[in-house]
Amino acid sequence: MSIALPVVGSQRPAAVNAPPPAPAEARPNGALYDSHGRRIRDLRLSVTDRCNYRCVYCMDPDFRYMPKQELLSLGEYLTVARVAAGLGIRKLRITGGEPTLYPQLGELIEGLGRLAFADLAMTTNGSRLDRMPLDRWREDGLGRITLSLDSLRPDRVARMTRTRATPATVVHAIYLAREAGFDPIKVNAVLMRGFNEDEIADFADFAREHAVNVRLIEFMPLDSSRSWNRSIVVTADEMLREIGRRHELVPLDGADSSSTSLNFAFADGAAGSIGIIASVTRPFCGACSRLRVTADGKVRACLFSRTEWDLRPLLRAGASDEEIAQFLGDATWTKQAGHGISSADFVQPERTMSAIGG
Ligand code: SAM
Ligand code: SF4
Repeated sequence: MSIALPVVGSQRPAAVNAPPPAPAEARPNGALYDSHGRRIRDLRLSVTDRCNYRCVYCMDPDFRYMPKQELLSLGEYLTVARVAAGLGIRKLRITGGEPTLYPQLGELIEGLGRLAFADLAMTTNGSRLDRMPLDRWREDGLGRITLSLDSLRPDRVARMTRTRATPATVVHAIYLAREAGFDPIKVNAVLMRGFNEDEIADFADFAREHAVNVRLIEFMPLDSSRSWNRSIVVTADEMLREIGRRHELVPLDGADSSSTSLNFAFADGAAGSIGIIASVTRPFCGACSRLRVTADGKVRACLFSRTEWDLRPLLRAGASDEEIAQFLGDATWTKQAGHGISSADFVQPERTMSAIGG
């Protein structure tokens, strides 16, 4: 039975870019659905657009950050998360920018931990984990950490991040995360032709050696330099072919139906696993269960949305939880069927991955 929730008098300030009202079936029994019948269970919460790296596929060296006052406060992030939890969001990933640069990250994790999401995770470049209270985060409810590492060669990491970072930083971060009890540990690698496409099988070795889930990601058109083009994308087929030359893979059964990756174990039973995120050549839009909230409080129903909905004025106007829930429901209803990267009229969104929250 679906229960239509009451539409309360709106406190939306007149100028707010708000989504059009969705029909009652957008929130049957208080759950979140889009107009294509997909249930939304995952929230990506970006807590900063700042970063200490300048990855070639993400952020240009002269990238301009949003003014600080435009970013949500700790209380506002927690309000969004609390309302989302009440709408059946079960997974929350803290991201950015580089989330370890967010000054109140500890308090945020503590607050999110109390909301008891089934899966509370964070994505980080790992550069600052050695000065972070990982044991404390674990106790407070952070369940998983995903690290990013795009090459196993020091010179290439430096070239791709445009810093002096090395692979050793992430290897150490894996060690620290494991010591603190994080499991499983995932390592993201964006593959780009001309940068690291000859390391695909080496990444499989890395997964085995460090017993981690390496996720090989197709480069997506979300870079601030707008240099994306198909010829730079290393495809899932190529990834599988290259790994297959060195290791036999077996598809992992029981993969989450809303999983964004093709998942494999090693046929010889070695530790570690491989995930392939083929957003460009094998889009998973039909199974997408995600909603995103940017650090400045814009609700984005799709990574590639060209329309985003401004929740911040509502939060700052002291809206009730029900009004915020209504807003999230309305925004979710607008979720596009697919990202459309392959269609002739595809236009890259204004925001870069770092300003959306990857
Ligand atoms: N700074 C953190 C990090 O790098 O792990 C978290 C934010 S970052 C935006 C999240 C993930 O998005 C990273 O694993 C990064 O490699 C990935 N990413 C960024 N830009 C991308 C792009 N254009 N295509 C595919 N993945 C991208
Ligand atoms: Fe920073 Fe992450 Fe973007 Fe690299 S991918 S520039 S580490 S936000």
